Amino acid sequence: MPDTLFDKIIRREIPADIVYEDDDVLAFRDIAPQAPVHVLFVPKKSLATLNDAAPQDAELLGKLLLAAAAYAKREGFAEKGYRCLINCNADGGQTVFHLHLHLLAGTRLRERLD
Ligand code: 5GP
Repeated sequence: MPDTLFDKIIRREIPADIVYEDDDVLAFRDIAPQAPVHVLFVPKKSLATLNDAAPQDAELLGKLLLAAAAYAKREGFAEKGYRCLINCNADGGQTVFHLHLHLLAGTRLRERLD
């Protein structure tokens, strides 16, 4: 899989505002936030898209979701609510081909498909 921007952030070759890290997951603030809170949760393992996740990645995908939920609780907005989403390929709006989960919060998010 080609090296992406997010691989470089994981290797600390380019800077990012990192808010969480464990053995499997790195989380950092999106450079162009779409909400008051916009954090990207990235598996350290390189998977280009959700399509590339295999059954053996089930635990890793779970860790990504649990890391996001733990962050929401820690930051105090879990009860008010938040949104987690994964864009996949062109029609899904994916622009960085290293699987990542967006965590959006801090405002009443509108229902939208675009
Ligand atoms: P995608 O569109 O692939 O689901 O999401 C990619 C996200 O990465 C976008 O929300 C975009 O703003 C963010 N992004 C792109 N380049 C950078 C960067 O250099 N640093 C950070 N922190 N986020 C980035």
